[in-house]
Amino acid sequence: MKIVTVFLSLFLCLFGCGQKREATSWFTDNGKVKVLSTIAMIDDLVKGIGQDRVDSLSLIVGEIDPHSYELVKGDDEKIANAKIVICVGLGLEHGASLRYQMQKHPGGIFLGDEIQKKVPEKILKVEGETDPHVWMDISLWVNGIDAIVEALVKVDSANASFYVRNGKRLREEMLAAHLQLQREMLEVSEEKRYLVTSHDAFRYFTRAYLAQGEDWEVRCVAPEGLAPEGQLSTQDIKRVVDHLSQYKIGVVFPESNVSRDALKKIVSCCGHPVRCSEYPLYGDSMGTQNYLEMIRHNVHVLKEEWTR
Ligand SMILES: [Zn+2]
Repeated sequence: MKIVTVFLSLFLCLFGCGQKREATSWFTDNGKVKVLSTIAMIDDLVKGIGQDRVDSLSLIVGEIDPHSYELVKGDDEKIANAKIVICVGLGLEHGASLRYQMQKHPGGIFLGDEIQKKVPEKILKVEGETDPHVWMDISLWVNGIDAIVEALVKVDSANASFYVRNGKRLREEMLAAHLQLQREMLEVSEEKRYLVTSHDAFRYFTRAYLAQGEDWEVRCVAPEGLAPEGQLSTQDIKRVVDHLSQYKIGVVFPESNVSRDALKKIVSCCGHPVRCSEYPLYGDSMGTQNYLEMIRHNVHVLKEEWTR
């Protein structure tokens, strides 16, 4: 009984202290620049550039779907207290309440739009709709660094050289990781490099890491579209089943924050043996990893499954 009480107290203390730390730091003026990001992939860039000169926070944490996220109690205060607020845009965060707050915030940055301005030819469209999953290609995501550096320099010019230097170093580190992961993926035989996931979050990833030429589009298929809406038709199922059969694909990959029901159904409808990968991929969330660890995780899961 005593042990249970001790553990319970410890848990409550850790949990309580953690909550208190976040709230205290975020809502107290401690001289640091407060930067709120919608998703953790942005927050990771902010942390790399701002380090100890910023207080940064992600709004959408854990396994929550960013496509449909609507503000919850306390979010308005978090946003109001931020000097800079960064979202992906490009249609990712389409919850009306979040979009409204983003549009009216004086320090709002739509990072995907900034990337699009720099490299418009790299932005993908699916049936006229912009694909917002730009973080899935590291060499594309680095194009968001400058906009974050500029925003920080604007509000905290005393630390300008610090932010510029960190941005440059982060860019180099990310591009080195990109080349390394690209090499690792292309070592896998090209007949194996056909990716089937739950929703269309891996098109940039496929173009960057699974193909060397124009044939990349046939290398990624998903039953659900650019946002995991869970509304599937029999045609969606048939399209993926036919694809699995055409390219003799033996494994499909669930995503950490999307229901596996569609993939299970597809596997059960296939005329040849297909299995679901034991380990999920990360598309719209990163779990407890940082950004580069998340992309590395995806590469290693694919490599493991495709070479076993
Ligand atoms: Zn998505």
